[in-house]
Amino acid sequence: MKIGINCGHTVSGQPGCGAVGFIDESVETRNVGRALMRLFTNGGHSVYDCTNDYADSTGANLAEICRLANRQPLDLFVSIHFNAGGGRGTEVYTYGGNPFREAADVCSAIAGLGFGNRGVKDGSTLYVIRHTSARAMLIEVCFVDTDDADKYKNIGANRIAEAIYTAITGTAAKPAAVTEYTGTNDILWELHHRGIITDANLWMKKCSADKNIYWFCRKLCQYVRSKNRAEYETDEYEDIHDIAWDLNYRKVISNMPLWEDYMKKDANVYWLLRKGLHWCRTH
Ligand SMILES: [Zn+2]
Repeated sequence: MKIGINCGHTVSGQPGCGAVGFIDESVETRNVGRALMRLFTNGGHSVYDCTNDYADSTGANLAEICRLANRQPLDLFVSIHFNAGGGRGTEVYTYGGNPFREAADVCSAIAGLGFGNRGVKDGSTLYVIRHTSARAMLIEVCFVDTDDADKYKNIGANRIAEAIYTAITGTAAKPAAVTEYTGTNDILWELHHRGIITDANLWMKKCSADKNIYWFCRKLCQYVRSKNRAEYETDEYEDIHDIAWDLNYRKVISNMPLWEDYMKKDANVYWLLRKGLHWCRTH
């Protein structure tokens, strides 16, 4: 099928961005939406990204989303949002509140993960429902400002995306295998992008001087790229032994004494492993 997917609003902090409570709507719509795009692409469908990151106003953002959706014929347009205002549960908006199969199934599939089911509702006044030509649904996954947010964090964006995918297509989601990066540049860029390292040049030098460091960065990069489940934990491990133990448990490293030794001798390596592990534990 040809599906248009919109990750809600603009990026966080910009004009037109989403609601912020215990979780940030603009961040989580992208986590769910991008995971959903990957699942549809892996399933052999044509995916059209209808997300607009930067706009001068909410109106400009909404108009651009509809322009992206209406550039090609679509079988379905899906806009992902999170609700605010103190309620609980999942709801899906369609034109006239039409509970067409995909809309009703998406609503009960997300609710089935542990949220209340608020049902399919009339979204005729919502801009992206009214101004898109394709059959459209706007999903309010759950509320950002109640204990829904805790449930969401435990479930994770990937499982939400899998539930939406399965509900729409009627087939199980197939997450793609992630090809391992081998180039030092690619590996370090990825670690930098995820906030695990700050000085890519420093690590460039260390990787070329020491193959253990290169392999650690490579395996860590592979782990963080292929990890599938969001399990949020907030406390950061500081103890060398705890860090090594957890990385070993996750099979990112295999020789604990070697890495404990590295961490004792080299503060940069300590911070690399500490920040790398923290990323693994919080995504
Ligand atoms: Zn929203």
